[in-house]
Amino acid sequence: MQASEYRDTLWWATAVTPPATQVLRTPIRVDVAVIGGGLTGLTAAWHLARQGVRVAVLEAETIGSGASGVNAGFVVPNFAKADPAAVVARLGPERGTRLLQLVGAGADRVFATVRDHQIDCDAEQVGWMHVAHTDKMLAALHKRAEAWRKLGRPVRMLDAGEARRRTSLRFCAGALLDESGGMLHPLKYTYGLARLAIAAGARIFESTPVRRVERNGSVWRLTAGQFYIDADKVLLCTNATTSGIASRLARVVVPLRVYQAATAPLPRDIAERIAPGRHPVADTRANLFTYRLDRDNRLISGGMAMIPFGAHDRMAQMIAGRLATELGLPDIPRIEHAWRGTAAITTDFLPHLYEFGPGFIGGIGCNGRGIALTAMLGETLSEAASGRRLGDLAIPVAAAHAIPFHLLAQAAPSLAIAQARWQDYRSTGGRA
Ligand SMILES: Cc1cc2nc3c(=O)[nH]c(=O)nc-3n(C[C@H](O)[C@H](O)[C@H](O)COP(=O)(O)OP(=O)(O)OC[C@H]3O[C@@H](n4cnc5c(N)ncnc54)[C@H](O)[C@@H]3O)c2cc1C
Repeated sequence: MQASEYRDTLWWATAVTPPATQVLRTPIRVDVAVIGGGLTGLTAAWHLARQGVRVAVLEAETIGSGASGVNAGFVVPNFAKADPAAVVARLGPERGTRLLQLVGAGADRVFATVRDHQIDCDAEQVGWMHVAHTDKMLAALHKRAEAWRKLGRPVRMLDAGEARRRTSLRFCAGALLDESGGMLHPLKYTYGLARLAIAAGARIFESTPVRRVERNGSVWRLTAGQFYIDADKVLLCTNATTSGIASRLARVVVPLRVYQAATAPLPRDIAERIAPGRHPVADTRANLFTYRLDRDNRLISGGMAMIPFGAHDRMAQMIAGRLATELGLPDIPRIEHAWRGTAAITTDFLPHLYEFGPGFIGGIGCNGRGIALTAMLGETLSEAASGRRLGDLAIPVAAAHAIPFHLLAQAAPSLAIAQARWQDYRSTGGRA
């Protein structure tokens, strides 16, 4: 992402001092080289450094310049598109249940890290609400809640009256409340993880794009600028970036361009009406509606564009209008910040590990749930780099085959959004 894009976000306008990183000035030798300084790479580096492993994080731009520093800050411990039952059906009872347990614990892990290490990131573990927009979706949420409860997760259902009291949403048949979810300031959290990794002994190099990774005798040799880094193991944590070495991961996902907007701070009475419990909220529409407040009661919401060309201003206005309609606001709110980022979507909507060579491993596929999930994906990658057999890890390994017709597949989200709008129109009797 270009600096001009991520610096427009609410998070870059309100973040504190960045962590003290280094500039690569000489060749170095480490045990593990981590490519990518987002939540995944930083979490992996932190866990490795804590065990005394010599680790270097190589970040092409600056810490948090990828999705980690521009997302919406919802901390949600589940899959956006895969029900627990579908995960078990796909992976089998043993592996499916292990993955669900790992993912379900993600939000608790994030908030525990924030608390235990006093990361200043406006974290609020107030519970995440998933609001059913129709009775049919309410029935589906009941099943989902039951499955998560069986796994020991603190998930319960709210009836329509209770859900409405907590959200003021226009379409509200009831809701699922996951009490372990919540929200935070994603860039401050990312900075916090970088500080933890540095304090544990990791070295972080910014403005260090890795161009090549090659086998050189018994080590991997990474080339970044005029220098190289020799490492026994390499973790590729580059998410949706498509250029250079990162394309090895990017080609296994569909890049989904997501637009975000943040309003000016709302008057207190309106903030208390639409979010009395301050829960971050998503609904079940195919073209989903989400909202949350930040520390200063700015409303934050997002959306996807059917036609990506020139969508920036159009999407900001669309998001403002939708907030007013869905939440019954007296006026269309003024947008203070509008930005976009790219999320990585896997074809089965699950995260995966990929082995590119002996000890050269990548991980991707948070599918819009990356804050909670990277806490687990990063740790799992650190286990892989510590020598655990990949097949024994909770996140499934997949073959790194490019999605067929990848260029065409990139247009899929635009088509999907058109279909989603039509589906929502029908499911609400033409009102959405
Ligand atoms: C707009 C948007 C909203 C979202 N909202 C939410 C949300 O509310 N809640 C949630 O849980 N998830 C959300 N997500 C998803 C979440 O942000 C991601 O899943 C998560 O941040 C992924 O972290 P990462 O470290 O894997 O990737 P990134 O943060 O993208 O980090 C990858 C890093 O790799 C670096 N890199 C790339 N190539 C190279 C190279 N060759 N050499 C060195 N470095 C390289 C990049 O510069 C980048 O910093 C959202 C995503 C987007 C885009």
